[in-house]
Amino acid sequence: MNSPDLSKMKQDCSNSKECLEMLQMILDGEATTQQKEHFLKEHLEQCMPCYKNYHLEVAIRELLKTKCTSHAPQELVDNIRKQVSQKLAS
Ligand SMILES: [Zn+2]
Repeated sequence: MNSPDLSKMKQDCSNSKECLEMLQMILDGEATTQQKEHFLKEHLEQCMPCYKNYHLEVAIRELLKTKCTSHAPQELVDNIRKQVSQKLAS
């Protein structure tokens, strides 16, 4: 995935609920290739909240994998969220 121009992205997602569900499906490997391509290439590059959410979910999942735990403490999740948004904002 190439880096989209953050300044040109939408600041609000018109259907963030559906987007979040799609995002989870993609990360869980439940989405079809077509859904994945469309979402990652068409939507994420224009939609700031979804772009951030995606990176956040990826970071959380990576962390859970390395920690071998199925549930991250809320504090940890908050921490990751902060880090990811800082990284994306810079
Ligand atoms: Zn969106």
